[in-house]
Amino acid sequence: MIESVDADCCCEIRILDTAGSRVRCSVAPRLPSAYSAAIEAMSLDRESRSVDAYANPKAEMIADDIVRDRRWLNAKCRKLLSKQHLTSVWQVPIFTRSGAFLGTLFVYRNGPAKPLARHRDIVSRAVHIASIAVARARSEEELAARQRRLNEAHEHLSQAQRLTRTGSFRTDVIADVHIQSDELYRILECRPPTLRAFREHVHPDDVGAFDAAFKRAMADRTGFDVIFRFITPAGNIRHVHAVAHFQSGNADRPIVMGSIQDITQSVQTEDELAVLRTELAHLARSMSLGELAASIAHEVNQPLAGIVNNANACMRMLSSEPPNLEGAIRTAQRSIRDGHRASEVIRRLRTLFQKREFVTEPLDLNDAVSEVIAICSHDLQRRRISIEFDRYAELPFVTGDRVQLQQVILNLILNAADASASASASASASAENRSKLISVSSRLTKDGEAQISVKDRGTGILADEPKRIFEAFYTTKSDGMGIGLSVSKSIIDRHGGRIWFEPNADAGATFTIALAAGGGA
Ligand code: ADP
Repeated sequence: MIESVDADCCCEIRILDTAGSRVRCSVAPRLPSAYSAAIEAMSLDRESRSVDAYANPKAEMIADDIVRDRRWLNAKCRKLLSKQHLTSVWQVPIFTRSGAFLGTLFVYRNGPAKPLARHRDIVSRAVHIASIAVARARSEEELAARQRRLNEAHEHLSQAQRLTRTGSFRTDVIADVHIQSDELYRILECRPPTLRAFREHVHPDDVGAFDAAFKRAMADRTGFDVIFRFITPAGNIRHVHAVAHFQSGNADRPIVMGSIQDITQSVQTEDELAVLRTELAHLARSMSLGELAASIAHEVNQPLAGIVNNANACMRMLSSEPPNLEGAIRTAQRSIRDGHRASEVIRRLRTLFQKREFVTEPLDLNDAVSEVIAICSHDLQRRRISIEFDRYAELPFVTGDRVQLQQVILNLILNAADASASASASASASAENRSKLISVSSRLTKDGEAQISVKDRGTGILADEPKRIFEAFYTTKSDGMGIGLSVSKSIIDRHGGRIWFEPNADAGATFTIALAAGGGA
């Protein structure tokens, strides 16, 4: 605009960037592009030190001869300007309406600057327009940056929702208008348009709980926290955990904000664990039957003794002169009765023990250990015993009976826990914490054996003859049965594996089982 009114001048506008650290040559229509590039390369810092003109860029300044004017002596752009035969400069600062410094307008000329009144008028208009244009560009930039940050935040949120399988929603209860996140759509496989439509998908067995939670929430306006099953249009059942609260300050128009987490996976895992727990409990019961076996054997002894006595009496009666046939028949009948009684006792005993077949399958020992830890973790927590599992990730499969092997691992962990508990009962506070850690680890040996070790910092083996701990009914505990290790050994023997223990250098013992990787039982 200025250049078109005054054909002899060259104009330049330098703008301070938003960080306030660099000047940019934003417009210089009559100067060659190399000039603008050279200015771009100079930072305000460097230039302000060498150019007085820039030392106070916020003031207007006129230099009639930039070659001689000492304020321009060190200005790098002085040479650039001389090359263009520009000898004077008139510098006018540009401010925003609120007074913030934006940059500078330079009017260069070949010959003295000497601004005339009409020049002043047009320059002041140009500066005004420039200030509006820059301010506007800045606010647009800021808006765009804000939008970018918003998009980023939105992207983070969706990622977090995907990772945690949690969708979110916002519901205008009166208007029955719902905003649902993409993840919520992925979980529900639909976007129920109304509350009624949503409710129709709730599992019939859970509708009662769902309604009650919703009704309570509407009555006291606190929110709800409810777990229910949602049936997707394709018929998939999702176990979901919904948590919501009312936005405050909207008494007439309740707005509910909430999240729905898909907990199907953990519910399924929990169910599987429960099945496993019952199986293990069953096996544990059959172990205590070992003790019962002793008393049952005693029961069998009685009819056996009866049979022998009756047989003796029978023989006597038959060999007397004349033979007492009637008495012999009665005693023989008593023998038969006792025989039946004995075999009945044995049959009962057998059914008690035969509750499960020996089923072998390829299995991942790491998973088997993790499941056992999950099963007993509650018990250990209660006893303030911590457990860690250092799993060797590349452990190959072994072949065996999963439940029986888990029973062995469970025995070792529970024994370790017992040893830890009795060691800590007699230890100082710091030793107590140390002793209450069980370290389980898995490894693969060079010989291709998969090993699981259970290390404790407990009492260590107290037995006089350590080998005896694998014998049935050997125990050093007041409430022990001495069955755990003997059963464990027979299970491991049956799998063609090995079980042994070693004392630890510091405290406690480490029990290890070793099974052939891949093959075995
Ligand atoms: P119980 O646990 O009923 O005594 P077990 O056969 O499992 O039966 O164990 C036999 C004995 O072996 C225990 O009484 C205990 O003396 C010893 N024992 C087993 N595991 C450990 C261990 N981790 N630390 C110290 N002693 C142990």
